[in-house]
Amino acid sequence: MEKKNIDWENIGFGYQPTDYRFEARWKDGKWDEGKLVTNPNIELSEAACVLHYAQCCFEGLKAYTEKNGDIVTFRPDQNGKRMQDSAKRLEMPTFPVDKFVDAVKAVVKANAAWVPPHGTGATLYIRPVMIGSGPQIGVAPADEFIFRIFVMPVGAYFKGAVKPLKLTVSNYDRAAPHGTGGIKAGLNYAMSLYPTMEAHRHGYAENVYLDPATRTFIEETGGTNIIFVDKEGTIVVPQSPSILPSITRRSLVDVAKDLGMKVVERPVKLDEVKDMAECALCGTAAVLAPVGMIHTEEGDIYLPSGMDEMGPVSKKLRETLTGIQGGDLPDTRGWICKAW
Ligand SMILES: *Cc1c(COP(=O)(O)O)cnc(C)c1O
Repeated sequence: MEKKNIDWENIGFGYQPTDYRFEARWKDGKWDEGKLVTNPNIELSEAACVLHYAQCCFEGLKAYTEKNGDIVTFRPDQNGKRMQDSAKRLEMPTFPVDKFVDAVKAVVKANAAWVPPHGTGATLYIRPVMIGSGPQIGVAPADEFIFRIFVMPVGAYFKGAVKPLKLTVSNYDRAAPHGTGGIKAGLNYAMSLYPTMEAHRHGYAENVYLDPATRTFIEETGGTNIIFVDKEGTIVVPQSPSILPSITRRSLVDVAKDLGMKVVERPVKLDEVKDMAECALCGTAAVLAPVGMIHTEEGDIYLPSGMDEMGPVSKKLRETLTGIQGGDLPDTRGWICKAW
């Protein structure tokens, strides 16, 4: 198979239509077989539920070329499970996890020419998305749904990802108490678009959202979880029902334990940040990106790890996780899933 002629080292993080996508349709109370299709566009009713009432959830995962040339994905079953949780909360039909994993593999295989080679720093980003496509004007769930999985090659999510980022604490919330913060709903992102652009306009890479009920605890950014390292070297992971359960974060916690590090998962007050040694953002797209400074109403908090480099603990975690994903380190937990 001949690879596409792409400057792999210099691709950004953006949409690029590739050759094939998977599509399944829900109608008359059941999913059809699903198949690979070539058309990147979807024709929809003007009254499609997704267009008015945001009945939409999605996922994000990646395929990697291993050192030995195998093309693999990372824990796709976890994305399949999480998408079921999202679908249930939004009154959408669940897509079976085994079929989800098979469909992910089929799309990756069909687009093998687009999977970046090992060692380029680029990966194939995989985007499953489900929408309520049936027409609906009275407020109710759709009766027809479209599930798609499409892929594109991507580079780093944050430009210069190993340079520490500047964040700001948002005056807005991305999720309501007892709302949808814990699922991967498109509507959570609609809530974060304005605050994200405000943060960018003021020179910050992202917002830190606080817990919506008391605004005293750290939640996450618009699209990544946050982890800290305290001065004793313990990994401190904020806990809250409105934080999206990141698979990257859960994997990093296991990696940290395997490396003999201590991990605590508990609510973390904004007040505690000044006592932390390191802070980093984690998610599939960003992997693990260091934070150098957080702007708050009481002033700027600079992490002791500085503005030039990633802190040593974050660096070790990032190298270990990317090492497992790229096949340079052994996969002792069965996280790696061969595409064929
Ligand atoms: C997808 C997402 C993450 C990251 O989750 P991963 O499973 O690690 O990719 C974090 N926060 C939010 C709000 C998300 O939507």
